Amino acid sequence: MAKRESAWKGMSKTMRKKVFDYAEGYKSFLGKAKTERKAVDEIVSLAQENGFVEMDSAKDVRPGTRLYCVNRNKSAALFVVGKRPIAEGINIVASHIDSPRLDLKQNPLYEDADSEVALFKTHYYGGVRKYQWVNCPLALHGKVILGSGKEVEMTIGEKEDDPIFIIPDLLPHLAYKVQNKRKLPDGIRGEELNILVGHIPIEDKKVKEKIKLSVLNHLNKEYGMTEEDFVSAEFEAVPAGHPRDLGFDRGMLVAYGQDDRACAYSSLTAMVDLKTPARTCLAFFFDKEEIGSEGSSGVQSRFFDIVLSDLMEKMEPGYRDMDLRKMIARSKSLSADVEVAIHPTFKEVHEMTNAARLGRGIAITKYTGAFGKARASDANAEYVGQIRNLFNQKRIPWQAAELGRVDEGGGGTVALFLARHNLDVLDCGPPLLAMHSPMEVSSKADIYNSHRAYLAFFRSDLGPTA
Ligand code: MN
Ligand code: MN
Repeated sequence: MAKRESAWKGMSKTMRKKVFDYAEGYKSFLGKAKTERKAVDEIVSLAQENGFVEMDSAKDVRPGTRLYCVNRNKSAALFVVGKRPIAEGINIVASHIDSPRLDLKQNPLYEDADSEVALFKTHYYGGVRKYQWVNCPLALHGKVILGSGKEVEMTIGEKEDDPIFIIPDLLPHLAYKVQNKRKLPDGIRGEELNILVGHIPIEDKKVKEKIKLSVLNHLNKEYGMTEEDFVSAEFEAVPAGHPRDLGFDRGMLVAYGQDDRACAYSSLTAMVDLKTPARTCLAFFFDKEEIGSEGSSGVQSRFFDIVLSDLMEKMEPGYRDMDLRKMIARSKSLSADVEVAIHPTFKEVHEMTNAARLGRGIAITKYTGAFGKARASDANAEYVGQIRNLFNQKRIPWQAAELGRVDEGGGGTVALFLARHNLDVLDCGPPLLAMHSPMEVSSKADIYNSHRAYLAFFRSDLGPTA
């Protein structure tokens, strides 16, 4: 019988300490990496601290060399060069660093004269359950390109004494007709996700929208912004505040953005822990997964090809295109993305023999997709066998899982886009509760075991599957 139990059961004191210590670094990363841009900043700074150098500036590439490259400040790749010839293929872990959130529209600012407030209009990004984002403390992370071309960054709402922002919900007393009769997905509609941002009017009799102007004056004074600058800006409203321990025993933690920064952080720290692996290792951190992996910073962009050709050119100068294609075909990859943990209250969405449990280790998901495995990459049994044996050998707790009951719904990852390059791909990541909500829940044991799993994978030299 396959052993299926909590990783906490029988855990040694030493391992328990490692699990809890690791969670502190993870929380600190999540607290800073609130957007894809900030995740890139954190990845680069941790990489630089640990001897990774910018790919273009690297001259002498040999086993043990550590490289990184960044694409448009929104996606990144880290390499550690291995001892084996690159022609034999490399080991890739790909995660995503974007998370569901509320983006400001291009013309976001307006004043509502009846309620004496100024607000920002938003357009949600990724799969959010809109009702969860009202009455939730929000912070704004902005990158603005001013008319002068100057770039300005701002973060408001993350420090203790910063102001925060909020989308006010309707009070129960008056919600009967207008809101209570709606179905839940419609409880708050997209155009109702308007964020309160200002209240005090300026003292100027000639101006009509005095509160709006007061907000604009503030932005101009603090950041040199004008109203038109919103057009060339990216403002992301995300849940304000920091990751926290959850429960009396502190075995879980709750934080925004664990999908998929859980895998980004655990694969990043695995790269940092590598010395000189057998095979060259590559960690990808992609953007735009939550909206279909499109865009120049998503996994479907040519960034993938460019970094691999760049590395190939450094290791095998003058290589032919077919050498690169064959190298990729001999590569192994993990699509590092979070799974769904069994919900203690809504069990009917899961099929219990194939659902992931919090605390049982990293989840291996052979196929994702929905309604008959549509848009799944469906890993080969041969490759799943290699990964399963690797985790067993290294005594890494793992579980095999799928996302919900058949035909209940579903979801995807970057696996199918990796698979288009013709290499072995398997979905693999820790399970979460309350995924895509402002407060996602994970087990500290699963986060640390994901780190161990990615590290074991990077160190492995598994051989061909076919
Ligand atoms: Mn994800
Ligand atoms: Mn997601």
